[in-house]
Amino acid sequence: MRAKIFVPLLVLVVAVMAIGINGARQAQGGEPEAIQELGTWYKGNTHTHSLWSDGNDFPEMIVGWYKERGYDFLALSDHNVLSRGERWMPVAQVEQRRKVGKMGSMEKYLAAFGEEWVERREEAGKEEVRLRPLEEFRPKFEEEGEFLLIEAEEITDRFQNHQVHINALNLGEVIPPQHGESVVDTMRKNLRMVAEQSERLGRPMLAHVNHPNFHWSITPQELAEVVEDQFFEVYNGHPAVNHQGDAERPGDEEIWDIANTLRLMLYDAPPLFGVATDDSHQYHGGDASPGRGWVMVRAEKLEAGALVEAMERGEFYASTGVVLKEVEFDRKTRTQRVEIEAVEGVSYEIKFVGTRKGTPEKAGEVLATVSGSAAEYQMKGDELYVRVVVNSSRPHPNPSYKEQWEQAWTQPVGWRK
Ligand SMILES: [Zn+2]
Ligand SMILES: [Zn+2]
Repeated sequence: MRAKIFVPLLVLVVAVMAIGINGARQAQGGEPEAIQELGTWYKGNTHTHSLWSDGNDFPEMIVGWYKERGYDFLALSDHNVLSRGERWMPVAQVEQRRKVGKMGSMEKYLAAFGEEWVERREEAGKEEVRLRPLEEFRPKFEEEGEFLLIEAEEITDRFQNHQVHINALNLGEVIPPQHGESVVDTMRKNLRMVAEQSERLGRPMLAHVNHPNFHWSITPQELAEVVEDQFFEVYNGHPAVNHQGDAERPGDEEIWDIANTLRLMLYDAPPLFGVATDDSHQYHGGDASPGRGWVMVRAEKLEAGALVEAMERGEFYASTGVVLKEVEFDRKTRTQRVEIEAVEGVSYEIKFVGTRKGTPEKAGEVLATVSGSAAEYQMKGDELYVRVVVNSSRPHPNPSYKEQWEQAWTQPVGWRK
């Protein structure tokens, strides 16, 4: 599996040497790695589609689904649109979108929310239903400290046949795709718009680059080069995103290690943090269903700004089922520790993954493996960074690819000076 990444990396290793930067150089910038004693873990999904773009259910139905299953926050992130303003949709189109499931979408919507809530009209002989904007249904679900909705958009752009999709969270205004002259330029232009809006409106916003392997759109080199980007999807639950890569191309997890190695060695930039998301589109059965991947964020309160800032500090992990009791990095002893909320009858393999200075061709080397529900790793001093992946023996209840087991991924640590 790993041999396939050597060729592109070697080219870059040569490039690193040619410009005279050696592997001992480390990234600067950012705050010291925060060791937050206080804070609560909040579970959330940041990538969700509804009828406002190409999802197949009403936003209220989707929000209800997540809230009932114990999520603390949810970002509805439709393509190039915020759920605002007046929008009507032919009922026939709503039902056609569903494709599967015995009970009609309208029937379910009416059963859940009642005739009073569901607004319909007759337009040119066709029955239409109104899509309710976020501001109207928000009060039905939000509860302080219990459940939060974050306004979001999947900025959906492309360069030639490369899909460049970026989720922007806590937006105040829609951002139309900016278009660029290359994949890198396209990422950059859209990311700049999020940063510019965050600055202008004075509120924290977060952007994550989505599914790099969807149509094999974004390479690890490109992800590395766009140093403005801080987040990407290390797991996306849509089955069409080539999560595992193929014989020639790295999967999402390998992309992460290659990009981070290049960032730290070549660009003197911080590593990417990894999120797991659903990218759910289908809620009546079908392939792109909800509940597959999420983030656990340790924040001082359940508010959009606090969640975004906690994620910027790296106070979160990505999961497809494994729950962590503790994840901490002691800067003094340079020790990464994790403890799993173990489920009876399930076994866990904890892998410490990183890249050693001087061997970038082995990006994402397994530095240590421990079986059990807790483990720690003390850095030896030759690692560019260390991260943890936990593999459980429990099969994913709703897999997006064959033989998927529940996992968790923590953020890279030990890369700051
Ligand atoms: Zn997308
Ligand atoms: Zn999407």
